[in-house]
Amino acid sequence: MQLRETPLWTITVASALMATGVAQQTGPAYDPQLAPLRSMRCGCNVHPGQGSHLAFSPSDCAFSTNLTTSEYDPGVLYEINVVVHVISNSMTAGAISDQDIIEQIERLNEDFSGQTLGQGNNAGIRFRFATEDPSGAPTNGITRTVNDVWFQDVGGYASALSWDSRRYMNVFTLDVGGGLTGYVPNVPQGGAVGSTSDRIVMDYEAINDSEFKWVLAHEVGHYLGLFHTWSGNTCSNTICHAQGDLICDTAPHRDPTQICTVNQFSCSVVEPSHNFMNYLDITCVYEFTPVQIQRMRCTLENWRSSLATIADVGVSYCQATPNSSGMIGRMSATGSPVASANSLTMTASSLPPNQFGIFVTSRDQGFVPGGGGTSNGNICLGGLIGRLNRPGEIKATGPTGEFTLLIDLTGLPQGNGVASVAMGETWNFQAWHRDGVGLGSNFTEGLEVVFQ
Ligand SMILES: [Zn+2]
Repeated sequence: MQLRETPLWTITVASALMATGVAQQTGPAYDPQLAPLRSMRCGCNVHPGQGSHLAFSPSDCAFSTNLTTSEYDPGVLYEINVVVHVISNSMTAGAISDQDIIEQIERLNEDFSGQTLGQGNNAGIRFRFATEDPSGAPTNGITRTVNDVWFQDVGGYASALSWDSRRYMNVFTLDVGGGLTGYVPNVPQGGAVGSTSDRIVMDYEAINDSEFKWVLAHEVGHYLGLFHTWSGNTCSNTICHAQGDLICDTAPHRDPTQICTVNQFSCSVVEPSHNFMNYLDITCVYEFTPVQIQRMRCTLENWRSSLATIADVGVSYCQATPNSSGMIGRMSATGSPVASANSLTMTASSLPPNQFGIFVTSRDQGFVPGGGGTSNGNICLGGLIGRLNRPGEIKATGPTGEFTLLIDLTGLPQGNGVASVAMGETWNFQAWHRDGVGLGSNFTEGLEVVFQ
């Protein structure tokens, strides 16, 4: 049974390309399906049987099976450091602007957070430009190289330019050729991690072209272990975790859908006409399915364990006054900004040791110096302020001068009642704490969280 693009395609595709007048690809291998069907498409080269030689064997999202469950649903927000290597030629072809690259990464973040076309699912994965290069030097996450050979996607550019591919997502922009918009040489489960083939290659014209802004999300899907929705070119789906794309919540179909016509039925069921891992156009592609998201997060956790960091959630605001330790009380949050995930942990830190405190929250920001009474601190909240002082919520700073709480987003105190946090809402948090002897107290700074 053929589950994947097979190495034999090289022969198939060469003749297919000749027949359509497209120059034969001389660089890395790519999919047989794409070139005859439409110009400017992705190619990825994954070979069966390469995935089992890594020392660790995260079988939940292996090369040939996918057994992910809800334990891989979005929880903490993962952040991936990206470096974009721009290769241009001596005629300045390929010298795309920083602004084009920044917009492309912004679009990638929209695609992965489920915002595209106002639909989609949030993967809980965010991409940011690297701020330090492998030597620790400051960087904007974009490198530029002029090389006429490398620009044509040949030669040793990957080994010369790649930053540690275990810690950075290396994206190269150059002239891919062959009518392709981009490709990924291999998936992590194929043994790519840490090698020079562990990279994403994008055609510079695709970066520049609004029609192809979604393609990077497609390539990152491969980079995080996903296959095409029509992988295997079969309608067989009786063992959905081991056939086709290995994903049980994508409908089987045999060939790329290509056009945004809803309700196409190559396998007697509606094709996944909005899926990033199909071949579609920008007017209708907007989603990774929940199981695709599980597989990408499983891949990050088990196959790319050095790549992502857990992102802080929220943005600090409002000036706090120093507490008796001499420091400004800080607020931070980790976990998921997805309201329905209900897994956000608040931390108040830089506080005096061995004091008790609570978190307070409101939909509104405000500023009341002196806490409106005996406090030395400032209230940074307005409107209906709720106190998280129910059983289990009253905390002590202990010897480290900090406390944490997994807050319950289904019942946040708001004034005299409780409220359930909904997607799109902004909530503000602060911590109040006793400060030294007597009735002295203080507040931390504020933290604004926009929930998704
Ligand atoms: Zn692809």
